[in-house]
Amino acid sequence: MSDQPGAPSALIGIPKELGDGELRVAMTPAALGPLLKGGVRVVVESGAGVAAGFPDSAYTDKGATIGSRDEVFAADVVASVRVPEGADADRVRAGQVVIGMATPFATPEAVQVLAEKGATLFALELVPRTTRAQAMDVLSSQANVAGYKAVLLAASALPKVYPLLTTAAGTIPPAKVLIIGAGVAGLSAIATARRLGSVVEAYDVRPAVKEEVQSLGARFVELPLETGQEGSGSGAYAQQMSEETLKKQQELLAKTVAASDVVITTAQVQGKKAPVIVTSEMVAQMAPGSVIVDLAAEQGGNCEATVAGQTTDVGGVKVIGPVNLSATIPTHASLMYAKNVANFLQLMVADGGVHPEVDDDIVRETMVSRGGQIVHARVREALGQEPLAAPAPPAEPEPADTPEEVAE
Ligand code: NAD
Repeated sequence: MSDQPGAPSALIGIPKELGDGELRVAMTPAALGPLLKGGVRVVVESGAGVAAGFPDSAYTDKGATIGSRDEVFAADVVASVRVPEGADADRVRAGQVVIGMATPFATPEAVQVLAEKGATLFALELVPRTTRAQAMDVLSSQANVAGYKAVLLAASALPKVYPLLTTAAGTIPPAKVLIIGAGVAGLSAIATARRLGSVVEAYDVRPAVKEEVQSLGARFVELPLETGQEGSGSGAYAQQMSEETLKKQQELLAKTVAASDVVITTAQVQGKKAPVIVTSEMVAQMAPGSVIVDLAAEQGGNCEATVAGQTTDVGGVKVIGPVNLSATIPTHASLMYAKNVANFLQLMVADGGVHPEVDDDIVRETMVSRGGQIVHARVREALGQEPLAAPAPPAEPEPADTPEEVAE
């Protein structure tokens, strides 16, 4: 794309995000350097970075240009936080590269719209969980911020302080915080809750995280669940557990939940509805004033009482179901997201062009659509589409008939 001799170098467009409460931006001035060094150009929609703390001048200082929304959508590549939808999806044209978060399993129909437009779509949620891909993993970078913010949300809703206070007016015991799901968001929440002085316990179905939990100063809650390998999936993700195991898990966790002032749930299974771990009966056992923050609210919730985007009062227990929490810390969330985007783009940038056809496993596994069709097997499955036929193996070279021919 755009790397013929004499052709202008490829243009990457960064639109302003228009989604509700979406304050992040897909590119920051700090992340521009390596891209521009790769010979591509970047146009940022005027005002795109303002809500995240990056004025237009900060981008032009680093070598980008500022343009209109039309100019941004006319670029060879559109990189955004949320992939274009509605009127913006209509602007996407065949062959254009679109990069962003696309929730391909939750909203595969929206992805299909972009596929039909002929976009070469990359859903950054699909970046594989390999060591090399870590620097491009938007789920991790955004979960880190969300885990931190969840603890702060709980702190401001809790009618208690977090740390142990020894004062002339008496001694206040530290708050008890339980983190369910010790992945990226959970570990970030553990670290934050510990820094604020609370006593922290954490539980995860993957026993492999026990040491990480302990190294952050929290107690790992061990449940005598006969899961075997049931909970541990491939590629560092958990697997969906059977109804029976989930039920047993709920029973075993009930006492720990009841004894907690704050419960932060982060348990997810990629591409599936989040498992219900805290039932309404368990919430009823908690002391009034306790708080639950459910980071899986958008995926259906880990708590039965969660309503996404709302705070619900259940017998005096506040159940908070935040959506898009990382967008509420837009500066740092954008700094990390933009670095992820720039690292990902660099896999495809060469000689001033952007090459989605590059032979790279990360690029291949993140690609959702190309040439008018969905090319990602699991997204095809989510849309009820038949698997694509495997590409034919390269043809064997014709055997040479005579030694003379070989010599030629
Ligand atoms: P996630 O958001 O998919 O899930 C969050 C946590 O919930 C996971 O730890 C999972 O085990 C847990 N969980 C799921 N079902 C549960 C249940 N029923 N009960 C209790 N816990 C349950 O996962 P994540 O936070 O994105 O990451 C998971 C792991 O992947 C982490 O260990 C992380 O370090 C690793 N990771 C690796 C890479 C990489 O190598 N590139 C990148 C990101 C994350």
